[in-house]
Amino acid sequence: MNDVKTTGVVLKVTKCKNSSLALSVLSPELGKISVWARGVRVGKNTQRSGCVLLTYSEFVLRKRGDMYTLIAACPIRTFYHLREDVVKLSYGVYFGELAGLLYGEGVEAKAPVRLLLNSLHYLENDLKDPLDLKVMYELRLMSAAGFTPFVDACMECGNEEAFAFSPAEGGLLCRSCSPLLPLPKSAVSLLRGYVKCTLKACLSHNGKEAAKILEPYVEQFIRYHTDLTPKTLTYLHRIRNTVNL
Ligand SMILES: [Zn+2]
Repeated sequence: MNDVKTTGVVLKVTKCKNSSLALSVLSPELGKISVWARGVRVGKNTQRSGCVLLTYSEFVLRKRGDMYTLIAACPIRTFYHLREDVVKLSYGVYFGELAGLLYGEGVEAKAPVRLLLNSLHYLENDLKDPLDLKVMYELRLMSAAGFTPFVDACMECGNEEAFAFSPAEGGLLCRSCSPLLPLPKSAVSLLRGYVKCTLKACLSHNGKEAAKILEPYVEQFIRYHTDLTPKTLTYLHRIRNTVNL
């Protein structure tokens, strides 16, 4: 039998007939995969705890065509406390959906899985402002997927006094080259840091105020370069407006 052992984060869970679940999982080695978890909703099925949304689990899978069938699932990190706060959960689910949209099957996903796990840990334990974490996560995930914004200098003329960020051009532009409104220096500095510094440094940095300014630019940057509008992002904005965060 072609059994495969891997780890992965459960990005999406869909209930199916016959007490089964269809899972979307992001695995470091296999990229995004579809997993058919047969009968796991019956009684006290021991595999079910490894199939919960946003749980990081160890899986034993059997490949059949384009699908993997679940043989065993054992949770490593459940991020249980995210489920106690609808805002945090909304951020977490969006992080998962965005990673799943940017990574397909067969595309190695070690960097995004590490980024996602660290971000969920910081989100769950209130170790970084959620909006700040979102901007950092989006910029680093886009960079890992090959859409790195150009943040060294003006994209057009090389002027190192670059002030505006163009989502369409995917980088910084100086005042002479762009009619766009200039960004505050703190926002440019945060943008550079989140693209160029180590993940550890980015996670421990507090960029809360500058991140609020950058957020709409980064969302536009994602939409422009990927044609993606994750459903969970729309939901996240609605939830945030509701609780006035
Ligand atoms: Zn320029």
